[in-house]
Amino acid sequence: MIIAIDGPTASGKGTISKELAKHFALPFLDTGLLYRAVGWTVRENGTDADNPADALAACNFDSALLGDPALRSEAVGGLASRVSVHPEVRSALHKRQIDFAYQPGGAVLDGRDIGTVIAPDADVKLFVTASADARALRRFGEMKKRGELVNFSDILADIRKRDERDQSRATAPLKPAEDADLLDTTDLTIGDAILQAIALVNAKISRRTDK
Ligand code: C5P
Repeated sequence: MIIAIDGPTASGKGTISKELAKHFALPFLDTGLLYRAVGWTVRENGTDADNPADALAACNFDSALLGDPALRSEAVGGLASRVSVHPEVRSALHKRQIDFAYQPGGAVLDGRDIGTVIAPDADVKLFVTASADARALRRFGEMKKRGELVNFSDILADIRKRDERDQSRATAPLKPAEDADLLDTTDLTIGDAILQAIALVNAKISRRTDK
């Protein structure tokens, strides 16, 4: 079974995806990490995230980098969003994601274009979203907890900028697949969001077996 999960930043999709993978005993790939690794490498190389050739050159990063917590920062997330607009970068990361999705037994992948481009025939597609304010508030809380000096309106502006860039790019923009189930987590605790996601997957599976 392939479960494709897409949605904007801080919607809860990362946590939901990990919990679904655990619940259904499937391997999990956070595809955002691949784009983050490219963004991080561009910066290490002292090159330009907006230049397609520089961004492509950063795609041959060492896989060990994917475990580096430095990839999780907001700054690297912003760089990831900038490199991800280049079609060259998206193609360079394509095979790795397809191989993961179509491994025997299936997988859970989360990202922006899993249900639309990477695994359009996934068994289950969820589009996890929440209002920009709710997402900024969550990000604000996480950063404050880590002791980072943060300002709510900067975070909200950053989230809006990232949404705009991800939704308006020409190649593989962030949007729900036509056959995706929507899960709006604005007013849900993460625990309730996970329960609803599990219920949506189970409903999809039983609809398929009824046919
Ligand atoms: O999900 P995460 O915040 O780690 O993703 C970082 C950035 O990588 C996103 O803002 C998006 O621009 C890009 N991305 C993408 N396609 C994916 C996953 C992430 O374009 N499948």
